[in-house]
Amino acid sequence: MYTKFQQHLTDELHSLKDAGLYKDERVIVTPQKADIRVSSGKEVLNFCANNYLGLSDDKELIKAAKEALDERGYGMSSVRFICGTGDLHKKLEKKISEFFGTEDSILYGSCFDANGGLFGALLDEKDAIISDALNHASIIDGVRLCKAQRYRYANGDMEDLEKQLKLAQAQRYRIIASDGVFSMDGNVAPLDKMYELAQKYDAMIMVDESHSAGVVGETGRGVTELYNLRGKIEILTGTLGKSFGGAIGGFTTGKKEIIEILRQRSRPYLFSNSIPPMVAAAGIKMFEMMSSTNELQDKLHRNTKYFVEKMKAAGFDIKPTQSAICAVMLYDAKLSQVMASRLLEEGIYVVGFYYPVVPKGQARIRVQISAGHEKEHLDKCIAAFTKVGKELGVIK
Ligand SMILES: *Cc1c(COP(=O)(O)O)cnc(C)c1O
Repeated sequence: MYTKFQQHLTDELHSLKDAGLYKDERVIVTPQKADIRVSSGKEVLNFCANNYLGLSDDKELIKAAKEALDERGYGMSSVRFICGTGDLHKKLEKKISEFFGTEDSILYGSCFDANGGLFGALLDEKDAIISDALNHASIIDGVRLCKAQRYRYANGDMEDLEKQLKLAQAQRYRIIASDGVFSMDGNVAPLDKMYELAQKYDAMIMVDESHSAGVVGETGRGVTELYNLRGKIEILTGTLGKSFGGAIGGFTTGKKEIIEILRQRSRPYLFSNSIPPMVAAAGIKMFEMMSSTNELQDKLHRNTKYFVEKMKAAGFDIKPTQSAICAVMLYDAKLSQVMASRLLEEGIYVVGFYYPVVPKGQARIRVQISAGHEKEHLDKCIAAFTKVGKELGVIK
């Protein structure tokens, strides 16, 4: 059997390569930070990590993790409900609730698991999920694992959402599901209008704060801070793998009965291992840091504003952004790849995206800004973009 299957896989891999869709991995040999070295020995500035607050190599977090490693050991060797709940897990859940202004929180191995284990635990075929068309793969999979009726609305399109909500009146309970920040454009979900529609059409809301937590809102509390809706959204999910230190782990936070049911029924929570104590300890430290000072959030906002203004002044076409994601529009797939590899030669690590990751004719380079970037890093990036942009005729 395998000989035939092997040929099948080899053909698939060839066609991925022919279509330019094969993903190669670049190997980093330093900690994750603004200036990294890759295995070829090349030193580059990193502008494509989700390390928004620059915490991936933070000394305080490393220290907290090391102490927990000594005091609580390496792993839990259990799921939470058997013998995998440590005091640090409980404390981190409390910190998450305080940070988001919610009633209770539940940890997962990842946000992919948080989303995957959410809907099926709460809804059945009598209910409805109304989902933004550009939602993250983990929300899409979570919806697929649930028997609820599915409705879809165009990205951030409130007229379309209203239309779908009218159709969904046929069902018993309704949840509107959306990313907080959409990762390809950097736009924020219009939560204020979503909230109005949810009130009008008797629906609940779920927001995935993965790209917005730590970033959006004056103190980085995410989209509920931005729209002044703290404590009003029934369900938030998020990751510890982006702004919040970048290691691993996810969570759902919100109404306490929802969290309680998830502890009873959510499959990735019941059937997958607890996060390591050191990750929980570093997470606790991280929330304490973020609550005691607004330094990192302020720096991220300053950096993003500076970068976007300078890039626009240089003549680049930048998608309107309300996050730390800056999409430099090129529209041409080939150009996005050529430009990204020229930028790498200039010491700037960024990635070009094109169809099917973004719509046809919407190719771009996505730049992700971090509080870990210093002004000289930003200036070097802008200078490289300007040089390569002129060379390739993107700007004059
Ligand atoms: C990154 C991301 C996830 C996945 O988070 P992990 O913790 O890495 O599994 C889920 N949802 C959104 C919107 C994301 O951007």
